[in-house]
Amino acid sequence: MTAIFLAILVGWIAILGAAFGSFFNVVIWRVPEGMSLISPPSHCPKCGARVRPFDNVPILAWLWLRGRCRDCKAPISVRYPFVEFLCCAVAALFGASILAGGWVGFASQTLNWAEFADYSRAWEAAVAAFEADPTQTTTLTFDGYWAAAQKAIALSFVWAFAAYAALILGFVEWDKGAVPKSLVLFATAVPVVGLLTILALSDVGALADRCGVFGASVGSGVAATLVFWRALPRSERAETAAIGALWGFCAGYWGAFLGVVVLLGVATAVRRKTGRNVFGLLIFSAIFALAVGESVWFATR
Ligand SMILES: [Zn+2]
Repeated sequence: MTAIFLAILVGWIAILGAAFGSFFNVVIWRVPEGMSLISPPSHCPKCGARVRPFDNVPILAWLWLRGRCRDCKAPISVRYPFVEFLCCAVAALFGASILAGGWVGFASQTLNWAEFADYSRAWEAAVAAFEADPTQTTTLTFDGYWAAAQKAIALSFVWAFAAYAALILGFVEWDKGAVPKSLVLFATAVPVVGLLTILALSDVGALADRCGVFGASVGSGVAATLVFWRALPRSERAETAAIGALWGFCAGYWGAFLGVVVLLGVATAVRRKTGRNVFGLLIFSAIFALAVGESVWFATR
């Protein structure tokens, strides 16, 4: 029963993620062009016909339209459902991790690892007690752990944002070769401010500690950019340092500098070979891989 309830909840979170993906497609397409995100409403770039509300359903609409505009039959890129699918997967992964009693937030960045371990064990014990005797609902008291759960949920939002931000930067970079500075600033500032706010509200000691992580991640981004200084075009050095810092922030103590150097090295090599910028997409892949890795680690602990 509990498993079915959790599965339905994760399903809803995944649908929410897909809806975000649908919006991010609009961001990826319109922000670099300096267009409004709201008007004009979604329309076919070929014939200008407005997308009907029921054809706006993430992922599925592309399938039942068979990848073509309903009006002029112009092909619709598979990129749209692909981005929606990736966002759906991020939401499902982070949601499932939280609800399963674990959390995705990268162990090195937790406020207090023991606190989350306690929270996880209490959650498991309470669910087991409830399953043994559903009438004994009084055993489901999370009082001491609700605060930790709130922090875990808030932190998962921050990490999901970091993953989504890297995804948006990655696709804009792929399309345009560079990312608008406003988008880079927004994408790196929100996770950083979000995390520091959660820390400030919960634990001042941890805040000071994490400021160290923040400093280290910015340092890693800048240092790694210096390593590839000559290979990077002048216009992209600031962006690369910012994206590197975002990665360093996520990786935390897990070898931020090494991680950034490897990622930037691969991205620089790809750029030399193909002329494409893949810095953002590599960061997204890395955050995603870290999230999967940590979920598996937490689940099998
Ligand atoms: Zn059309």
